[in-house]
Amino acid sequence: MIFGLLTFVVFLVVYFYLVSYLHWQIENELLNSIKEFESLYKTGGIDALRSEFLREAESEGAHNVFLCLRTPDGKVVASSGAGACRYLEPLKPDLMNSDSDRPVLRTISPHGLSHKIRLVAKEMEDGYVMEVGRSLKNNELMMERYRETFGAAIFVMITSGGLIGWFMARKAMSGVSRVTTIASRIGKGDLRIRVPYGGEGEEIRALVIAFNDMLGRIESLVKELKHVTDNIAHELRTPLTRIRGLAETTLIKGKDVSEYQELAASVIRESDQLIAMLNTMLEIAKTDSGINEMALEPVDLKKIIEEAIDLFMPLAEEKDLSIEVSLPKGEVIIKGERHRLQRAFANLLDNAIKYSLENGRIEVSLKREEHGMVLVEIGDSGIGIDEKDLPYIFERFYRGDKSRSTPGSGLGLSLSLSIIRAHGGDIQVESAPGKGTKFTIVLPVES
Ligand code: ADP
Repeated sequence: MIFGLLTFVVFLVVYFYLVSYLHWQIENELLNSIKEFESLYKTGGIDALRSEFLREAESEGAHNVFLCLRTPDGKVVASSGAGACRYLEPLKPDLMNSDSDRPVLRTISPHGLSHKIRLVAKEMEDGYVMEVGRSLKNNELMMERYRETFGAAIFVMITSGGLIGWFMARKAMSGVSRVTTIASRIGKGDLRIRVPYGGEGEEIRALVIAFNDMLGRIESLVKELKHVTDNIAHELRTPLTRIRGLAETTLIKGKDVSEYQELAASVIRESDQLIAMLNTMLEIAKTDSGINEMALEPVDLKKIIEEAIDLFMPLAEEKDLSIEVSLPKGEVIIKGERHRLQRAFANLLDNAIKYSLENGRIEVSLKREEHGMVLVEIGDSGIGIDEKDLPYIFERFYRGDKSRSTPGSGLGLSLSLSIIRAHGGDIQVESAPGKGTKFTIVLPVES
């Protein structure tokens, strides 16, 4: 509609411009002619004018020019042809007397002629009145042709514009409606479906890609959620079954107090482990939910590592492990949450000790790196990690086959990784079964 309206307005503007231009042109011609005839009349008199009138009629066509000279009482004394003055209207006396120097312009529609005449009349010095008229036939024909041509063009443009617009809108909308149909199918539960791209154009293509990306993300989140829920259910069942077993044993009669006390202590131990596991899971969930929730402050990473080593020294000594430490001079300040970072490094050190054999060696180093990063390496000469386990050790509840006999929940590394990631860092692992394992932690220093 806007397109049609604009086209119509353009048509009107051009039309009126053309009309006024043609009008101006013909007026100019008439005024020039009357001036020339007037001077001829002055110099050559009626006879010269008469022959000039005839010559003009011959060259321009008797139906195109109408030239006439009348006496003050309206008698024709010279004309461009028999009857030429018949079509012209003698000037009214009031017009004639108003300003005799200025020619009077009019458009008339004479009887017996199919076209209008533009007429200029002027009173000569001797009171005679000269009239010069031109047929507007050509102009009218031209404007008629213009109206026909542009009318047809506008009709074609508006019809085809409307049709093409409708077709394009339908095509564009078909992509959107396809996305809508699929979205409602997905809403019913099938997250594996993707919207195929049907070639509807760049915008729809971008929409389809963004929509499919979003679906992929949702699908993997739902999968992960299901996986975690399954794991939690599984991991809770084992200790709860054990606790139930212990409680059941107490029901069997014939036990003395010390036996009951032992069973109660076991229930407490199992419950504590369960609570610790739930707390770790909550901690991971909280850390994963975003760094914004953490109270970040400048902390000295070197101090955190030293404290963690001090804490685990007695455990290491129990297994006759040596801990070699290499730390830089001065403080290494990073922006972080002290307790969480302590927990992340404690888990890694705990694992290094847990999975080391007696008389083994543990190496801990802290280095400043380029690009504002720090590197912490925690290596051990322990049992190492099987290649098949390596991709999964950071997953929640994942425990290597070899570590089944060692106490643990399979949550330590998950927590460490989510803490380090929440601080803008990452953890890498290298391991050779039987030779040892090295965890490399990168963290950004405070800028
Ligand atoms: P957990 O130690 O409680 O089993 P983690 O999440 O800390 O759980 O570790 C996951 C698994 O990664 C462990 O079960 C173990 O197989 C492997 N692992 C982690 N650290 C080491 C290490 N330093 N040496 C050998 N294996 C390790």
